[in-house]
Amino acid sequence: MFDDLKGKKILVTGSTAGIGLEAAKSLASAGARVAIHGSRSADTAQAVLEQFEAGADVAYFQADVRSSDACKSLVESAAEHLGGIDVLINNAGGLGGRNGLESIDDAFFDQVLDLNIRSVVMVTKYAIPYLRRSAEQSGETSSVISTGSIAAREGGGPGASLYGGSKAMVHNLHRNWVKEFTKDNIRFNTVAPGTIDTAFHEDKDQGTRDKISGTIAMGRFGSSAELAPAYVFLASHTASGYVTGQVLDVNGGQMCP
Ligand code: NAP
Repeated sequence: MFDDLKGKKILVTGSTAGIGLEAAKSLASAGARVAIHGSRSADTAQAVLEQFEAGADVAYFQADVRSSDACKSLVESAAEHLGGIDVLINNAGGLGGRNGLESIDDAFFDQVLDLNIRSVVMVTKYAIPYLRRSAEQSGETSSVISTGSIAAREGGGPGASLYGGSKAMVHNLHRNWVKEFTKDNIRFNTVAPGTIDTAFHEDKDQGTRDKISGTIAMGRFGSSAELAPAYVFLASHTASGYVTGQVLDVNGGQMCP
């Protein structure tokens, strides 16, 4: 349907596992040059790179994106390797643990917000000059896609108030950045997954999983592979060049906002 991702330079944060890994695989299959990222060591990530199709143009970058300095050096290293950045996918994130309001302390607060907010704000901040240049040089839009969540819309599960709140902030940061950067031809869209079968849910027993499945119209968790086309669509100028400031919910009908 579209082939404009060939040769595109794409940084996908949190792409060693789960949703980010499947998005990165689909983008690489479409011919993009992809910077893979996670916090694990380069040695451990080698097994991840081996999961890509033969000939895929992928390279691994390690950074703990809870630190602003690490976000800066991640963007700079990826841009240096790729020769710029055309598309940024802010996917690194996670629950960071569960705590009811009365158990939240400063360390937990920082942990959840650094992982889900500092990472998105700082990686995007340092990527903006590259994205601006990409749009100037190509005459097409460049694209930022962040992974939000169904929790941003409905508040999150038990003990996940900070997580749900941080994802709501991700959704809203994009609305603001549309106002700031559309003049630079940079688009901002969010993919909001529902309940997707990844390590994110490894703390749940079968009974809990069944109960959650019962709240989903399709009656089951989604897979990371079912999320990937949403990222491909929003990365492509040909497919989504007039789409910005939107939240694309991929949730099997768990919520219909
Ligand atoms: P996952 O399988 O646990 O993957 C998380 C990814 O983020 C991994 O690549 C991990 O890399 C990376 N990461 C985590 N902490 C990091 C850190 N401090 N620095 C750098 N990288 C870090 O989980 P997932 O379900 O695919 O989650 C991906 C995104 O989707 C997250 O933003 C999550 O909040 C969101 N989400 C998930 C669901 C769901 O149901 N699964 C629903 C809504 C939203 P390393 O392992 O190498 O650190």
